[in-house]
Amino acid sequence: MGRYLDARCRLCRREGTKLFLKGERCVTSKCAIERRNYAPGQHGQNRAKLSTYGLQLREKQKAKRIYGVLERQFRRYFAMAERMRGVTGTVLLQLLERRLDNLVYRLGIASSRSQARQFVRHGHILVDGRRVNIPSYLVKPGQEISIAEQAREFKIMRDNVEAAQQRGGLLPWLEWNPERLTGRLLAVPSREDIPTPINEQRIVELYSK
Ligand code: SF4
Repeated sequence: MGRYLDARCRLCRREGTKLFLKGERCVTSKCAIERRNYAPGQHGQNRAKLSTYGLQLREKQKAKRIYGVLERQFRRYFAMAERMRGVTGTVLLQLLERRLDNLVYRLGIASSRSQARQFVRHGHILVDGRRVNIPSYLVKPGQEISIAEQAREFKIMRDNVEAAQQRGGLLPWLEWNPERLTGRLLAVPSREDIPTPINEQRIVELYSK
């Protein structure tokens, strides 16, 4: 399966909730969920009740879409989570949260995860002072994330950082230094501190069949 290239708002409408895939637009009245909160397609407005399998599948699709991960990679995360100590569903979310593109988004450097992925791919992000261009790079607690020298002057970066500052609400397991434009993952977050609207238990049930 290749990367999804169709209208991203359709994904939110399919899940019936905001997945915040388009940056600033997601918090305006232009958001498709605000205007047409029903599934896309001809029969979108008369969907039947979902089976248990359907509910589990939707939850997995939602997680993949939020974090921008494809099926094979998502399964790999699940296999990793199973091998690690802790509650599998929680560990799965913790792994997804530690992805570099996710943290660039969470710190406010990018307005969406797809933009964050692009910044990383283009070499605009440093981890502990070294360029890392792999969006799935797993950041360890204590590591510093910063913007590469040449990218610090990009208007888009500055606008994002400023908008994030104004919005506030940095997650408690992250740190941001506005003078140095650097951030840090302070600790692996507990489930309560991950504000992702996912019932991860359903994903565990789906993959454990
Ligand atoms: Fe989803 Fe954002 Fe589109 Fe709203 S604007 S439907 S949150 S991608």
